[in-house]
Amino acid sequence: MKILVLNAGSSSQKSCLYQLPETGLPEHPPSSLWSATIDWTVADGCGVLKVKAAGQKLEIKLESEDRLEAIKLMLDTLVTGETQVLKELAEIDIVGHRVVHGGSEYSQAVLITTPVKEAIASLIPLAPTHNPAHLEGIKAIEQILGDIPQVAVFDTAFHTNIPPKAAVYPIPYHWYEQGIRRYGFHGISHKYCAARVAQLLGKPLESLKIITCHLGNGASLAAISGGVGINTTMGFTPLEGLMMGTRSGSIDPAILIYLMREWGFDAEQLNRLLNQESGFKGVSGVSADLRAVLSAVEEGNPRAILAFEMYIHRLKTNIGAMLASLGGLDALVFTAGIGENAAIVREKACEGWDFLGLKLDLEQNNQRPEDMDISTPDSKVRILVIHTEEDWAIAQEAWYVSHQ
Ligand code: AMP
Repeated sequence: MKILVLNAGSSSQKSCLYQLPETGLPEHPPSSLWSATIDWTVADGCGVLKVKAAGQKLEIKLESEDRLEAIKLMLDTLVTGETQVLKELAEIDIVGHRVVHGGSEYSQAVLITTPVKEAIASLIPLAPTHNPAHLEGIKAIEQILGDIPQVAVFDTAFHTNIPPKAAVYPIPYHWYEQGIRRYGFHGISHKYCAARVAQLLGKPLESLKIITCHLGNGASLAAISGGVGINTTMGFTPLEGLMMGTRSGSIDPAILIYLMREWGFDAEQLNRLLNQESGFKGVSGVSADLRAVLSAVEEGNPRAILAFEMYIHRLKTNIGAMLASLGGLDALVFTAGIGENAAIVREKACEGWDFLGLKLDLEQNNQRPEDMDISTPDSKVRILVIHTEEDWAIAQEAWYVSHQ
């Protein structure tokens, strides 16, 4: 069967097509037949569509901001030109969408119906940049492919089993009843990595205590016991927890009250400050990208050095929090842009845990590991680098829903 995956962000639209057997899913992530990205950040008022398929690469400049037209053009490359892999779009059996926010209601992937679309729309105030983009994608598929089954795979779903003691904020309880609680994000990646750990170690997932460190531009940790997420660092929004590229992560909320009272900040200014001007970018003054921050560290830039040290400090204190929730640890996992590529982050994050018997093999750590155990043979905790495969995870969920 052919499964189309749509992964919509606020400023990009990624998509890929998998061909999977009806009889069962392959053990290892297969390559997609076709993949495409629309990037809306390249220039004002237009975007760029990049497509890879059939050994060919295509790049098209989009002259208008019309997102539906852009998705139509993107899907056209499946059936025309050098990147053609299908005779007609009707060959697609099912479409899987990544949906950032599913609230506390959706604990697993679901077939998209009118009530599901209404629920995604009702959660727009909690995910103002993402949920509208997902709805746009769903609508575009309805218009282009008609009555095809579509599946929503929620980033929050994996965290719905977090117990109340970790999910409820210590503010008046009626706010919890109003939906102000910890939801957690990056669930598709955390879930995929946990399953991959079990596969790589050859042990049942039910027997493992795992901490997954999803360290990308956005970053979060998850404490996973027996395959169930029991704690995570992101909360009501993806702002809580770790220091990130441009996001502050957790800070004293009284800072916001102070900025409002003494400096006249309003909601928009606070939002920009905490989501776009903080983290690596705000502290280093160099960049949100760790690669640029590390170059500045090499040159001795004191604020870049401070930003890096803060990042590691906050990462380690949060690993400690996940450890306390688990009460033991079998595997520590690094994934996403920073987790997979920055050996120095893994090295620093693994320092000082000797009392746990956690030992990193420094040589393996520096060999660009992928889906590999990088702990020493005598380490009591396995340390793994896993290439996160969110699109493949979405395709798998869509496959399961279609076989229910
Ligand atoms: P993601 O959001 O998962 O795509 O991760 C993007 C981030 O990964 C970038 O902003 C970089 O900070 C980081 N990154 C990617 N490659 C490297 C690398 N080779 N070394 C350090 N950081 C990297």
